[in-house]
Amino acid sequence: MAKSNKCDWCGVEVLEDDGYRLIQPKRNLGATFCRLEHVVPWLMQKDDWHIWNNVQVPENVSPLDARTGTELDEDALYLIHHRGDARISDGFADKDGVLAWAKAGGRYST
Ligand SMILES: [Zn+2]
Repeated sequence: MAKSNKCDWCGVEVLEDDGYRLIQPKRNLGATFCRLEHVVPWLMQKDDWHIWNNVQVPENVSPLDARTGTELDEDALYLIHHRGDARISDGFADKDGVLAWAKAGGRYST
């Protein structure tokens, strides 16, 4: 089964080398977003995940929560920014962490 390539919030086409993917490796779940801002309303209002095949913890991701710095366990969620060939991944202990981080503007907030 092909991965969804429409934004799960607004429905626009998201190319494989663009946008964000939010995954839960333990439960084989994922969702697609055209941009970080769309993660926030989706998590708060929809939170409807897709079952994806073989969802893996991203390579080279920190074992620590991107927001709190605590060690992640198998329940962790990962937000992956696809930018060309680059895959920039951040891990979170729970959905609230993803939400707070995305609201704050993600990796590029100060
Ligand atoms: Zn969108």
